[in-house]
Amino acid sequence: MLDATHDPALRSWVASAHAPDTDFPIQNLPLGVARWPDGHVALVVAIGDQVLDLARARTAGVLEALEPAIADALPAPTLNPLIALGRPALTALRAAVSRLLRAETPEGARAQGVTGCLVAASEVTLQRPVAIGDYTDFYASIDHATNVGSMFRPDQPLLPNYRHVPIGYHGRASSIVASGTAIRRPQGQVAANPAGPPTFAPTARLDYELEVGAVIGRGNPLGATIPLSEAEQHLAGLVLVNDWSARDVQAWEYQPLGPFLAKNFATTISPWLVTLDALEPYRTAARGRTSEEPAPLPYLTDAGDAARGAFAITLEVWLRSAAMRAAGMPAVRVSRGDFSRMYWTLAQMLTHHASNGCNLQPGDLLASGTVSGPTKESRGCLLELTWRGAEPITLPSGETRAFLADGDEVTLRGICEAPERPRLGFGACTGIVEGV
Ligand code: MN
Repeated sequence: MLDATHDPALRSWVASAHAPDTDFPIQNLPLGVARWPDGHVALVVAIGDQVLDLARARTAGVLEALEPAIADALPAPTLNPLIALGRPALTALRAAVSRLLRAETPEGARAQGVTGCLVAASEVTLQRPVAIGDYTDFYASIDHATNVGSMFRPDQPLLPNYRHVPIGYHGRASSIVASGTAIRRPQGQVAANPAGPPTFAPTARLDYELEVGAVIGRGNPLGATIPLSEAEQHLAGLVLVNDWSARDVQAWEYQPLGPFLAKNFATTISPWLVTLDALEPYRTAARGRTSEEPAPLPYLTDAGDAARGAFAITLEVWLRSAAMRAAGMPAVRVSRGDFSRMYWTLAQMLTHHASNGCNLQPGDLLASGTVSGPTKESRGCLLELTWRGAEPITLPSGETRAFLADGDEVTLRGICEAPERPRLGFGACTGIVEGV
């Protein structure tokens, strides 16, 4: 539901919130965790090029009265206690923060006089926003599944189960890192011949995967399921995810049990949790099914999900080599896709995940899988973009890339745009590849 926090006409007393290219106008208000140089760690909200320290704002008396459970969750080193309270708590906090940051409210007038609540984002280090207990990666782009399938199984690109069941695998949470963390090129078993034998070597086919991650807010007890119509009540918000992948390791190890060491050496997430409330004006119809495609089973069917289950998020990948950095050249955009065209909605993935009674917990991460579209420009990883290395891309420096080289900096971006609405962004999800 849209409310006063979505009003496109809102004005903030933070001037940078009105910069045309900011990801963080007053209608966004994403949640994060920041570390100050003196070691202070706090939950923060992004506004323009500043961050608001929620606990300090409350202590200073400029954040309006909140329910005790919400107030008690603010002095914490992660968002977990807050998001565990569920969607209504996030909605109440969003309303209070919006009033604090508005130019014309009494709360806004008082807040401008308080020092220490608002600091430049450049003065703090953003951390992983949530403690992630479990991480699941899906495979929800049918274009990605078809492209990858046609490389590995030309005779049968899309397996018979794809259009019936949201495919996923359990990833590893311990190696999920904050944006900006260096990514060490992994070593592993690689085999030039599909029948082997392998050698142990640094991966020669390091790749990124452009994904969106859903963060679980309120969980479900073990044994309980989550109806599709209620799935979004368990979603706190979205982040960007780079599922770094070693394609040569993957090709050798993935059968019969799926991805393992090719994926679990590092996964980067963006620092800001963009709440479902903030994304409300950018909802759109799910992809739906053609007449040739089977209808999903009843537990994966819901009229509300069909009508508004997708998120209109434009997703981009930017690449900058070490040589480009040395020459002062900016990053170049290598792909641009549309998150609303996924075969399965995030709500369907969540409901399917819990459909056997599996308990989801606050902070769990459900990633979408590589977001690719039908055009070459919208392919969300190098494996597809260079067609397994056969068609390298050329960078503005004249260098070519089939896969990532040491020193390459990969940045994911997500942007929401709609008529008569402000532009919202997710902030950058960045990592630089380091040699072994
Ligand atoms: Mn993935």
